[in-house]
Amino acid sequence: MRMDCFGMWCTLVAHDKVGNIRIVKIHNGTVIDHIRAGHALEVLQILGITGKEGSVVTLAMNISSSRIGSKDIVKIEDRFLEDSEVARIALVAPEATINKIRDSQVIDKRRVELPDQLTNIVICPNPRCITNKEREPILPKYQVVSRKPIKLKCLYCWTIVDEDEIISQFTER
Ligand code: ZN
Repeated sequence: MRMDCFGMWCTLVAHDKVGNIRIVKIHNGTVIDHIRAGHALEVLQILGITGKEGSVVTLAMNISSSRIGSKDIVKIEDRFLEDSEVARIALVAPEATINKIRDSQVIDKRRVELPDQLTNIVICPNPRCITNKEREPILPKYQVVSRKPIKLKCLYCWTIVDEDEIISQFTER
């Protein structure tokens, strides 16, 4: 399966079992491309997509990519992403690109961006951290201290959170 963009027209090209090409046109929605291979299911979990919502979701895994070697692609009809969702995706798929499609045209294409600070995206794993005290209305705030591999530091207790911890928080629903 591969993603073809001819000018402003984007299609997802799928080869079925007998080798026929099936072209799935994207009318409205979001294409998340250049997800690190093997991480598409985490992206779906971040977006709360279980497949039971009824919207059309196309998933392609382990596609060869000239830019990142091997990648996954997720296409979701009739869904546009919130900034907080893009920040979460940036933590599990730092090289992803988000394509917004309206009326079958790409109206916006951008790389996900991991900001230097994240507020209310990741929970502090330290139970004594002030952000975990119910009586304190303090939102967890993190500084990005490393991008490859991703490491975040709690700005209240200095606990370091690594990629495995982040992924387990995003996928434990
Ligand atoms: Zn903390």
